[in-house]
Amino acid sequence: MFIYNEAEIWFVAGSQHLYGHQTLEQIKKNIQLVTDYFNQHANLPVKIVLKPLATKPDDIYTLCQEVNYSPKCVGLITWLHTFSPAKMWIRGLTHLQKPLLQLHTQFNEQVPWDSMDMDFMNLNQTAHGGREFGFIGSRMRLIHSIVTGYWKDKTVHEKIAQWMRVCVAINAEKNMKVVRFGDNMREVAVTEGNKVSAQIKFGYSVNTHAVGDLVSVINAVSDTDVAQLIDEYEALYQISPVAQINGAKRQNLIDAARIELGIERFLEQGGYTAFTTTFEDLHGMAQLPGLAVQRLMAKGYGFAAEGDWKTSALLRTLKVMAKGLSGGTAFMEDYTYDFTKGNELVIGSHMLEVCPSIVDDDVKPLLDIQPLEIGNKADPARLIFAAKPGFAINASLIDMGNRFRLVTNALETVKQPQPLPKLPVACAVWKTKPSLEVSAEAWILAGAAHHSVYTQALSMDYFRLYAQLHNIELLVIDDETDINHFRNELRWNEIAYCHPYA
Ligand code: MN
Repeated sequence: MFIYNEAEIWFVAGSQHLYGHQTLEQIKKNIQLVTDYFNQHANLPVKIVLKPLATKPDDIYTLCQEVNYSPKCVGLITWLHTFSPAKMWIRGLTHLQKPLLQLHTQFNEQVPWDSMDMDFMNLNQTAHGGREFGFIGSRMRLIHSIVTGYWKDKTVHEKIAQWMRVCVAINAEKNMKVVRFGDNMREVAVTEGNKVSAQIKFGYSVNTHAVGDLVSVINAVSDTDVAQLIDEYEALYQISPVAQINGAKRQNLIDAARIELGIERFLEQGGYTAFTTTFEDLHGMAQLPGLAVQRLMAKGYGFAAEGDWKTSALLRTLKVMAKGLSGGTAFMEDYTYDFTKGNELVIGSHMLEVCPSIVDDDVKPLLDIQPLEIGNKADPARLIFAAKPGFAINASLIDMGNRFRLVTNALETVKQPQPLPKLPVACAVWKTKPSLEVSAEAWILAGAAHHSVYTQALSMDYFRLYAQLHNIELLVIDDETDINHFRNELRWNEIAYCHPYA
């Protein structure tokens, strides 16, 4: 399901023929050493593949075409090892359709003050070569990321790794298929949006299937497969008495397992990696899928409730980005506030559909079956747990009518202060940054949704990169946020993003 193993980032050094054969040969040796170091010691999530030295416009053009055509290549790193006159790059970069990172490094870490001569200069001139390349990036209005520093520096590796993860996620997004079982919740505004514009901007397609199509797959699941899945539940979770083997609601657990297997098969058969459901359209289903969507999210599928396809697609994208990092990523909703002065809290949850990836590793979620009036079906199965404390971010993608806007809020998840014995749902309790007062006002002014993607795994740097690479509006609410400045930012963005999206 994830493509880190198969993905490649291509790496090319730029130079020219001015310096003579010997210098170019030395540059080839240097970049081979850097490539090997990156692949062996830098702990990067994607393999770097070295490409021939770029010294002529035709070669650069061919390389950029190959980047576009290669299904494995998810981005291109350039290193202007020497001065590489940038008009040579115009034709290639005009055609480049994948993310570009300029690694602004040089082969030598330190200046050899006693021995530095012009030969040394020829091999360590990123300082001005990189600026020539920067001009053409800026002049062409390219979306262009830059990492500066010595190539053995861990910070440099971390920044490259972040960029690589965003490249992989964006590549996965281009191939993503989102399926909706039912439409958006009736009369809800923020979950609406232009699916054609989303496909043009992000690449993913969003299509609906009748719930009956899904129900026929669910009904075809065999009893043996259901029994096997229930064994898995019993190994992984605490099972509440009503769901146990002679419990009063054992049948509901059996139905939930059948729903899970049916949805998973439907997704696999259709090549879908994200989906939505809605409690307003459960025709032929025994219960609202709760446990099923929780477990499918934990496997990496995107999901959001009530037909919210934007949040579902964003969840899948962020799950790809975060794969292998510590901390989980879940569908979330701002549920209710605790306005205790000086200790303001938000309780986040969603009826049944919070991903168990955000739970503490040593906690076994409780698998319970409890009534749910919404949806008007049998009592659904769900996992109940609390999110682990620590840093997290909520992110919401909305459609402003002429553009997509991504809004993020930095959070500090806290230990749930008290049990919630009458609220049988998974939840997270957090403090918003910079304060509940400012964060809620900014979030509301920005028009961000009640639904969000909650992630413990990704820092704000990932969101900044993701928004840059898509050239979409990003609004960050964190410790730096000043509400008056934020209002101005909203006004200025109306001009900055005045061109319609598609
Ligand atoms: Mn909702």
